[in-house]
Amino acid sequence: MNHYPCINIHLDTITHNAHNLVSACERFGVKPAGVTKLACAYPEVGEAILAGGIGILADSRIQNLKKLRHLDGETMLLRIPAISQAREVVQYADISLNSELETLQALAVEAVKQHKLHQVIIMHDMGDLREGSFYQEETLQLAREVMKLEGLKLVGLGTNLACYGGVEPSIDNQTQLITLAQQIEAEHKITLSYLSGASSAGLPLMLRGDLPKGINQLRLGASVLMGIGLNDDPVPNTRQDTFDLTAEIVEIKVKPSVPAESTALDAFGHKPTFTDRGLRKRAICAIGKQDIDISQMTPKDRNIIVIGGSSDHLILDINDSDMPYHVGSLIEFELSYGGVLQCMTSEYITKRFI
Ligand SMILES: *Cc1c(COP(=O)(O)O)cnc(C)c1O
Repeated sequence: MNHYPCINIHLDTITHNAHNLVSACERFGVKPAGVTKLACAYPEVGEAILAGGIGILADSRIQNLKKLRHLDGETMLLRIPAISQAREVVQYADISLNSELETLQALAVEAVKQHKLHQVIIMHDMGDLREGSFYQEETLQLAREVMKLEGLKLVGLGTNLACYGGVEPSIDNQTQLITLAQQIEAEHKITLSYLSGASSAGLPLMLRGDLPKGINQLRLGASVLMGIGLNDDPVPNTRQDTFDLTAEIVEIKVKPSVPAESTALDAFGHKPTFTDRGLRKRAICAIGKQDIDISQMTPKDRNIIVIGGSSDHLILDINDSDMPYHVGSLIEFELSYGGVLQCMTSEYITKRFI
């Protein structure tokens, strides 16, 4: 078993963030759902989120929700379900976000078969142009159809923002969602349990005190797991150091910084360019582009320069570092959201839960 490279996942930080976000949301009448997709829904991460006081675990993929089925929380499927997965959706998700009648019909058939009441949140598009109908009348019509389907229970209305089109959650679009929900409630004489207004991108609006009363759910992923939200800005009272990466040095040599005669393309078909810093002490780490886009990782030792890499090698300039690195030393890196995603997905990177 390879120990390195390894991504370190600080579970206490996740619980800390979840706990503080639950408290912050409570003041504004919001109960967050905890989104696990960045961490591929490893059960350890699901447990850490639940330990922070969040009651619903949400993920885009049904394969991920399946990994969480033995935990206490309710499960919610975020990505609009595929008809071909209707059986698993009903089996592993208590709630799903939906926008298509054919899919809802397939879920209804499955729910009846499995003797379940599957909970449905209808998605309405407020202009970000990802999922949901953009037209109020279509969303109202879909709600009418769901009401008629045996096996399904209409429990909410939701929208997704700042994901594709870069539309920010605002007083205006959140108020429109509430108004639409009120129309559905009046027409069918029901109370919707969830008005699911946004992702972590909705936190700044809420923390300013501007989230309209009635929105009672935010689906929080990046903020719980990494302490970041809209535009990747840090969220107050959360920590950003949940994840880091450790890689091992396999070679240290002094070399010129410019290749002898560079005429060929690199392994990825690009013409490489070089900065001439003269003779420098360099290290090779056993990690490469097959594991992670190396622009998404930053050495914690600020005196190290990432020079480049190939599929399986990361080349570092360690000349200016004061640390006594040797072959076998470990180097630690901070990771961006995209970097964490790749490390969590890669089968070559060990997951170390701390
Ligand atoms: C990923 C996702 C979220 C969570 O977004 P974060 O920015 O990580 O908080 C919320 N809702 C939906 C529909 C998603 O796909």
